[in-house]
Amino acid sequence: MAKRKLNRRQAWRVEKIQEERRERARKRDAQAEALLGAGELGPEQEGLVTAHFGTQIEVEGHDGERSRCHLRANLESLVTGDRVVWCAGDPTGVVVARQPRASELLRPDPHGDMKTVAANIDQIVIVIAPLPEPHANLVDRYLVAAEAVGIEPLILLNKSDLLQDERAQQIDTLLAPYPELGYRVLRASCKQDQGLESLHLELTGKVSVFVGQSGVGKSSLVNELLPGTDARVGALSEQRGKGTHTTTTAELFHMPRGGSLIDSPGIREFGLWHMARPDVEQGFREFRPLLGHCKFRDCQHEQEPGCALQQALESGEVSQRRMDSFRHIAATLAAD
Ligand code: GDP
Ligand code: ZN
Repeated sequence: MAKRKLNRRQAWRVEKIQEERRERARKRDAQAEALLGAGELGPEQEGLVTAHFGTQIEVEGHDGERSRCHLRANLESLVTGDRVVWCAGDPTGVVVARQPRASELLRPDPHGDMKTVAANIDQIVIVIAPLPEPHANLVDRYLVAAEAVGIEPLILLNKSDLLQDERAQQIDTLLAPYPELGYRVLRASCKQDQGLESLHLELTGKVSVFVGQSGVGKSSLVNELLPGTDARVGALSEQRGKGTHTTTTAELFHMPRGGSLIDSPGIREFGLWHMARPDVEQGFREFRPLLGHCKFRDCQHEQEPGCALQQALESGEVSQRRMDSFRHIAATLAAD
């Protein structure tokens, strides 16, 4: 992109906007520091970030109560799922520190920079269904994205009530490689109340997110897991009654049967963006021990002599299905 020269008036406006931003940040910090300085806050305690609204966040304390908090000056940015140290206040508390993160869910922002959207997630539930039919390599794409952030995936086939004849066979073929690779696969039906017990068990004691194509039944599943809280994401602002925010921020919910969900429209779309080729190679977990063992350092794993992946394919260590899938995903990357 050619560098645009700002005229004096534009430059003045840019500077003005930046000054306003700095001023807002100063006010924010001053508010937090004033609260801390006034000695009217409770003692430091551990908490969990359950939502994020512009400059404030919502923190859950040990008693399960949630309160709005300011962030102390110079605190690293916080996202839903972060564990923090905070002090309760009336009406607003202050977060004073962030605990180290066990994991980060990343997605690109509009400039293509990777941004953390949630923290400390234990598993990514990849939801697929017989209908809408999963497009080619969809499951592998999700798996690659999950591997890239180092969060354990769980493959969940919903709408198992729709499995008949050829469709049942197609799905069996589709899912066949995964248990051998060490991925968990569950089958469920929201409609016929099947498999939900096993799903509950897999979610217990963990923080999970649901991802998957539109129409596979994520809302139905989330409603099932969080009864009485209706269509989670769409209803976020109404549910709070005051319409104080209509953002699509990620929110954390505890399930009555144990375990927590972090949900937002952005999180549901996880995984379907451009990935770098090394991430794709690493994302096929059975490739990992082979990478770096090809004869050529820039091996594309196509027809090159001495390709370790090609050899593993011939010996049956790597399945044709997964190899095809890798090549397909790599080709879409090249085309991007
Ligand atoms: P989302 O877009 O992934 O959130 O999917 P929704 O939860 O909105 O579900 C899409 C459609 O699939 C709705 O019409 C649901 O009623 C339907 N649906 C959800 N779960 C099941 C299921 O287990 N079996 C069948 N047959 N339909 C389902
Ligand atoms: Zn190779």
